[in-house]
Order: sequence, then C-alpha cells, then structure tokens
Amino acid sequence: MSSECLFCKIIAGELPSETVYKDEQVTAFRDINPVAPTHVLIVPNKHIASTNELSEEDEQVVGHLFTTARKIAEQEGVAESGYRLIINTGPDAGQVIFHLHLHLLGGHRMRHPMG
Ligand code: 5GP
Ligand code: ZN
Repeated sequence: MSSECLFCKIIAGELPSETVYKDEQVTAFRDINPVAPTHVLIVPNKHIASTNELSEEDEQVVGHLFTTARKIAEQEGVAESGYRLIINTGPDAGQVIFHLHLHLLGGHRMRHPMG
C-alpha cells in the first residue's frame, strides 16, 4: 500500500467507490467519470505504479486482472456485444493515476479507433 495513492485508499476502503468485484488479489470498481455505459477499473490490490514497474512475480496477478475482466464483462452484460480493455502507461498514453489499472469499456459502439 502506498499512503499517497488514491487507488490504494479505495482498495483499503478509506475512500468510497462503487465496487463491483473484490477478492484477495484484485478489486474492481466503477470509474468516477465514465466514458461508456459500462466503465469499470480493475486493479491489483498490490500497489504497482504502471506496466513499467511490472516484474516476473506479478505475472499471476496480471493474468488474474484479465480473467476478472472476463467475469465482469459477463456480469455487466457486454461479453457478447463487445468491450475494450485499455491500460494507459505514462504521459503519451494519458496515465493519470499511477496504480496499475485495466479499464473495461462497453455498452456502446466505440467511437474512436485505436491510437
Ligand atoms: P488513467 O488515465 O490513469 O488510465 O485513468 C484513471 C481513471 O481513474 C480515469 O478514468 C478517472 O476517471 C478515474 N478516477 C480518478 N479518480 C477516481 C476516483 O476517485 N474514483 C474512481 N472510481 N475513479 C477515479
Ligand atoms: Zn496504489
């Protein structure tokens, strides 16, 4: 846990969020500023600043982020209609919160092509 990290505080329950899933490895909650009808952030409970800080020991939890995304897509009813999974790393990608998170976006046709 990083004491200055917003998402660590959400994971610890020190800041409110609309949690949609939680287990011992990951937490998923609704984005405060959704850009699609479904916009969920899936984060490791361990503080990892970005993909630049990943190490081999994180491979299991990173895999778990993706299987959790699959479950949430089903739960949210977007598994068949489709969804986009996004991870922003660093300035050019517009990363704002430096605690690794997977955006799950769905519920409408994506307006923007990638890049
Ligand atoms: P990034 O650009 O770092 O990939 O995305 C950070 C995301 O976190 C943004 O989509 C933003 O709306 C979301 N966010 C920022 N602060 C909060 C917060 O306090 N609560 C929740 N639920 N989402 C937040
Ligand atoms: Zn953190």
